[in-house]
Amino acid sequence: MKVPFFDWRRLYTAHADLFRSVIDTTLSQGRFILQQDVIDLERRLESMLKVKHAIAVSDATNAMLLGFRAAELSQGDEVILSSHAFLAAAQSIHHAGGVPVPVEIGNDWMTDPAAVERAITKKTRFIMAVQVNGRTCDMDEFGGIAARNNIRVVEDSAQALGARYKSGFAGTFGLWGVFSFYPSKTLGGFGDGGALVTSDDEIARRVRMMRNHGAGEDKTIRADVTLWGTNSRLDNVHAAVLNTKLDMYNQAIARRRAIASRYDTAFRKMPQLALPPSPGGDKDRFDVFQNYELEADDRDALRAHLDERGIGTIIQWGGIAIHRFRGLGFCQEFPRVDRFFERCLLLPMNELLTDEEVDYVIEGVQSFYE
Ligand SMILES: *Cc1c(COP(=O)(O)O)cnc(C)c1O
Repeated sequence: MKVPFFDWRRLYTAHADLFRSVIDTTLSQGRFILQQDVIDLERRLESMLKVKHAIAVSDATNAMLLGFRAAELSQGDEVILSSHAFLAAAQSIHHAGGVPVPVEIGNDWMTDPAAVERAITKKTRFIMAVQVNGRTCDMDEFGGIAARNNIRVVEDSAQALGARYKSGFAGTFGLWGVFSFYPSKTLGGFGDGGALVTSDDEIARRVRMMRNHGAGEDKTIRADVTLWGTNSRLDNVHAAVLNTKLDMYNQAIARRRAIASRYDTAFRKMPQLALPPSPGGDKDRFDVFQNYELEADDRDALRAHLDERGIGTIIQWGGIAIHRFRGLGFCQEFPRVDRFFERCLLLPMNELLTDEEVDYVIEGVQSFYE
């Protein structure tokens, strides 16, 4: 048996007939750019997440860039985020004129709220909650820090569509949040895709205009336009596919959580591993398991052992935390993040894995430590 980390072909072949018919219908009717399928996707995200506005865009990285521009991030404004994050978030901050300020993680591998508080300066405009692996940060802590310091929260919830903290959905806790529909994400399309959600009317208005060259709702660019737009539209055919996949989203998340439970039951008693919280093990959170990330003794040897058995694994973000990009000007030292990156590993995790494949991964891990 072989279990690649992600079987890209399966993304299409699992429901090929359905996708063929959706794509054929959409394209044969000439619906290419900003047609009803994009509007439908936005309305569905709004009702699913109980948020006022969802704006579909080309990808999550540009969603963040537009979010910061819409919020008028100014030259030199600081945005604090976990160093255990994807460089994309820092890039968006940089290109909007801001300064990304990475911070240390806590024992739960999420952003350490105390580190956030210590990093606040007079220049801090936003604290960004990065909802890594489909699990939210402690959003009460984030909200408290923001209120005490009179700043706003924004969310890189690219990995966390449908994740909850208490009664709120990831992406809806601050001024705005973003999602990614990159193929391997929990709601993965057949190319790039993303969305920004916000309950702020003005942010929504600006992002909607900016994604389409500054055009208004009627898709017309007026001579008196007052903000610089760009092209950051989500292709309509991708929206049509995403709408079809949204019909199956609850089952997909349930399947991911079932796989996480299977890993959890098998690994919980192994002293060589540190696991993420089990699904249902934390009453304040509903995790969507974008990834199953754990810490392992002898991580590199474990990876090689799994690789020999045809089991693919990944070290997230290519193994590079934000503060390790020294060439981009970061100079912080974060021992906890560094230690985490020496030990962390992503096991195969997606809704299309069979129980047999998951068990094969489990046996591969267990046989290494026996
Ligand atoms: C995937 C991802 C992004 C980037 O999303 P794109 O849609 O590829 O731009 C940003 N942040 C996190 C945490 C991600 O996982």
